[in-house]
Amino acid sequence: MIKFNVADIKKKLMAETSFRMEVQPGELDLSSQDLPVIGKISIEGNIENAGDVLLMKAHLQAKVKRVCSRCLKEFEAQTEAQVEERYFPAETDELPEDALTYKFDVVDITEALREGLIVNEPVQPLCKADCKGLCPICGADRNVVDCHCDTRTIDPRLQKLAELLHK
Ligand SMILES: [Zn+2]
Ligand SMILES: [Zn+2]
Repeated sequence: MIKFNVADIKKKLMAETSFRMEVQPGELDLSSQDLPVIGKISIEGNIENAGDVLLMKAHLQAKVKRVCSRCLKEFEAQTEAQVEERYFPAETDELPEDALTYKFDVVDITEALREGLIVNEPVQPLCKADCKGLCPICGADRNVVDCHCDTRTIDPRLQKLAELLHK
């Protein structure tokens, strides 16, 4: 849990509190299923009194494990995420939908940081931009071996379908 007491900055418009820390993934409620982080996560940011709301900005950095979507190899990558979130006092009338709130002068930014890192992960990670992937015929890692399979061959069932479509 990462919480800040904002009693002081609430007293003055534009007042802010900045933070810089290194935390274990567990402190952001991140399990290895959510995101396999290696080591600690560095976080740097600030919370500013922006009038009706508190504005939180943070930059996160961590080393993570990813699985290449082409060759299925596990690799390590450096990830960075920028998070910006507004927190409304819980007693605000007519809160916007999905608004994040705080009460008793304590803001909990755990969830915003956690999500920031998760949504930042690529849907199709690549171990390298030009990863050649696995051969669809023999399964060889084409970054390592040249298996000489003819990958232009069309599945015979698809061939039939192609002929039918052309009639
Ligand atoms: Zn790869
Ligand atoms: Zn092959």
